[in-house]
Amino acid sequence: MFRKDLIGLLQGNPLGLKDIAEVLEMTPRDVEDDLKHLIKSLKHSNYHLRVTPARCRKCGFRFKEQKLHKPSKCPRCHQSWIREPLLEIEKRT
Ligand SMILES: [Zn+2]
Repeated sequence: MFRKDLIGLLQGNPLGLKDIAEVLEMTPRDVEDDLKHLIKSLKHSNYHLRVTPARCRKCGFRFKEQKLHKPSKCPRCHQSWIREPLLEIEKRT
């Protein structure tokens, strides 16, 4: 996959997994795999991936940052009104 494309796409431009998948014409599942590799390979670079965690719009429950895809249900209030996690590439300062 084209990790450079991902960096270009997400630098200063937070997007959800579904949007990224649409732009790159991939499945969200494949994008998620690539992002996981990207996180590892960015460790020794000037960039890092910032994750704004998913949040329940109903009760405000905050999901773990490790979850890159949108959870289907809130574990606290069991609603499915969930804001998907946003992914953004930032340059280290
Ligand atoms: Zn909730």
